[in-house]
Amino acid sequence: MVTSGALPGPCMLCGGDRGSRVGGGWECAACGWRYGDVPDADLPLPRIQVVYYLRFDRRVKIGTSARPRQRLAAIWHEELLAFEQGGRPLEQQRHREFAGIREGGEWFTLTDELATHIAALRAVGDPWQLYARWLSEALRA
Ligand SMILES: [Zn+2]
Repeated sequence: MVTSGALPGPCMLCGGDRGSRVGGGWECAACGWRYGDVPDADLPLPRIQVVYYLRFDRRVKIGTSARPRQRLAAIWHEELLAFEQGGRPLEQQRHREFAGIREGGEWFTLTDELATHIAALRAVGDPWQLYARWLSEALRA
């Protein structure tokens, strides 16, 4: 039987407060982390490489990081549009795909084509919830 309700405390990975009872425990509704599965405090969380899409005005920066929270804090931007799971090879593939609208460095013009690509990524889920889900999956693996 699955019941849902408030988690006993905020989810460690995504901060979510809703969950469902699975077996004898709780699972976060947003990212699937099993409440109470505390990774060894001395071990860092798994490294999940993401390609990020950051908007500033009508430009989008496409970059990659294994520490997106720290990385994004260091980049001037207005909005995080999307994440996709992948590292340098995926980033470079995207840079090639959108080479025609490259403005310089990792910045691209937000054209309809790029907006459509980003909308498809956003349809999968909110970027930070997706990131928490990838962390959660890596912790269980
Ligand atoms: Zn969660």
